[in-house]
Amino acid sequence: MYFAAMTDISSDDLKAAGAKVFADDRAHVFHSWSAQGAISPLPVAGAEGSWFWDYEGNRFLDFSSQLVNTNIGHQHPKVVAAIQEQAGRLCTIAPSFANDVRGEAARLIAELAPGDLNYVFFTNGGAEANENAVRMARLHTGRSKVLSAYRSYHGSTSTAIALTGDPRRWANDAVGQSTGGAVHFFGPHLYRSHFHSTTEAEECERALLHLEQVIQFEGPATIAAIVLETIVGTAGILIPPPGYLAGVRALCDKYGIVYIADEVMAGFARAGKWFAVDHWDVTPDLITFAKGSNSGYIPVGGVVISQAIRDTFDQRVYPGGLTYSGHPLACASIVATINAMREEGIVEHAAWLGEEVFGPALRELAARHPSVGEVRGVGAFWALDLVRSQETREMLVPYNAAGADAAPMNELGAALKARGVWPFINFNRLHVVPPCTISEADARKGLEALDEALEVTD
Ligand code: PLP
Repeated sequence: MYFAAMTDISSDDLKAAGAKVFADDRAHVFHSWSAQGAISPLPVAGAEGSWFWDYEGNRFLDFSSQLVNTNIGHQHPKVVAAIQEQAGRLCTIAPSFANDVRGEAARLIAELAPGDLNYVFFTNGGAEANENAVRMARLHTGRSKVLSAYRSYHGSTSTAIALTGDPRRWANDAVGQSTGGAVHFFGPHLYRSHFHSTTEAEECERALLHLEQVIQFEGPATIAAIVLETIVGTAGILIPPPGYLAGVRALCDKYGIVYIADEVMAGFARAGKWFAVDHWDVTPDLITFAKGSNSGYIPVGGVVISQAIRDTFDQRVYPGGLTYSGHPLACASIVATINAMREEGIVEHAAWLGEEVFGPALRELAARHPSVGEVRGVGAFWALDLVRSQETREMLVPYNAAGADAAPMNELGAALKARGVWPFINFNRLHVVPPCTISEADARKGLEALDEALEVTD
């Protein structure tokens, strides 16, 4: 028996149902990124808007958006209705056919994308989008290497994980996974500058110089693409300084390299724009998307493709495809999401939240809490960089922290959960990433809980 809401049912029955959910999970579900014997996943009974709840009567304000995914909130009625309507009409049709919602979703995304990025290849998620973007770039250029930044996350399939510049993920090397032509470089990050910069302008200039040196040492004629999260997400909410992305664009033009903007996390309202590149008026050659495009109601992702790269495959077969590419349920949910975001001003709301609520409140909070080193973010996309000392900027917990090392962040997480707020924590960072639809009252409720919980790490 499944329960969507805690109505018309006794609390004992609900608890029994929760215990069964937990037992089935522990007996049979193999979880992502986890030591299977060390986890205790919360059984979730239902969700709505910015909230979800368990079987014990506990409600949580979702400050995680489920891996920064539910931009439109949980169970948005227009998106749910569109999926139900589509399910009644046509659940599946192979990618080789033309289909109404597939075409409409592609058209709407193309209309939102900058420049002449007018074509969409649909995937089932973000990693597959990056896999295919890289394949397109390699075939388009006839080159093989791909440059990506340290402090990045691009997904966990073979090419995407090789591009990911995040030490926690490199355990994959232990199973002999090929790095497949991936070369890493340092992107700009003034707070922990690799270049000993003291200003954003200096950091930008030095990061671009470094990138050009990497290109030259690797050999421009061997480099197919640069893959860059427009705003680095999982690895710390790093906002590029003014001029950096334009500089990357210029380097790509100079050396004939394809510029792939990974907007799997930053796109579709999260950063207060449809695409985060809109903040800097930069037009990449390929943009990858997933998460916020339909808030994960049905798994989906994709690559938005420039005219030139599409033309490479005008009479030449693109050697790639997925059974569920452009799945009607996923495409119907994208159409409904974009329409609802337009009708309800959700992109503008996210921008407003960043400017008027999260930015000021988090900075004020940082000024009072010694464990907060830096606050970074925009829109509904924020992180607190937690430190042992504001002076030395030593991270509160080290990279790859586990066991006792990870204790301070685990305690912070527990303190938030005890106050009814579900956080998104990575290494020494607390990410504040609620649905982009969150009300001001709920946002402030979560911030108040955060203020109290930070006593644990101060
Ligand atoms: N790229 C970025 C920037 C991401 O944040 C993620 C996931 O968090 C991915 C790619 C991978 O997406 P998926 O988990 O849908 O494969």
